[in-house]
Amino acid sequence: MHIDIISALPELLVSPFGHSILKRAHDKGLLDVRVHDLREFGLGRHKQIDDYQFGGGAGMVMMAEPLANAIESLQAERRYDEIIYMTPDGETLRQPLANRLSMYDNLLIIAGHYKGIDERIREEFVTLEISIGDYVLSGGELPAAVLVDAIGRLLPGVLNDETSALFDSFQDDLLAPPVYTRPAEFRGRKVPDVLMSGHFKNIEEWRLEQSLQRTRERRPDLLEEE
Ligand code: SAH
Repeated sequence: MHIDIISALPELLVSPFGHSILKRAHDKGLLDVRVHDLREFGLGRHKQIDDYQFGGGAGMVMMAEPLANAIESLQAERRYDEIIYMTPDGETLRQPLANRLSMYDNLLIIAGHYKGIDERIREEFVTLEISIGDYVLSGGELPAAVLVDAIGRLLPGVLNDETSALFDSFQDDLLAPPVYTRPAEFRGRKVPDVLMSGHFKNIEEWRLEQSLQRTRERRPDLLEEE
């Protein structure tokens, strides 16, 4: 999969993609993430990318022209399955959306700043708007990194055990069961006997029960859906 990200602060995105699972995905050739500096498409000598908002009020707006030029220069090289703008008023990111996006080949993600981007870019180019939750961050870089992480770990071959993403929280509208590793006893707290039993079927049943119980207690809304 190929993901392009347009950002006014590309430095913010170096670390999230340089480690762990996303780095492995990159090294294996499964995920190619490229970050493009919007400033390179800025206007005039000062490479301007933002301006005051029409109608007045505090806060700058990211200008349409630099963004359009950046998007069109990338579109000249590939056809995008979705052009995504990270924004608090977008569709809330949930597992099914990450699953759907993980099946595409080419995504373009736009990270905003200040008051956001000129509305006409959203009308003209953006095909999908995604929020990572009901709170406001100062820029779209961390939301973009969250989205890429959620997608990247689903790509076949990225996780060591290919099936393991299937058993994480939300995949079947259930939260994950508790997990334990060595030692078998920690400060007087023992690992549940069933996990030490080696009895595969009992373990599966216990995990499902725990998942259901946890979901009922913490996220009953997940069980009510549909
Ligand atoms: N004025 C806007 C907020 C702008 S925040 C509003 O009230 O809706 C600046 C940028 O941060 C946005 O353009 C967006 O790219 C990013 N951002 C902030 N919070 C976000 C969230 N919850 N999800 C996705 N992107 C977010």
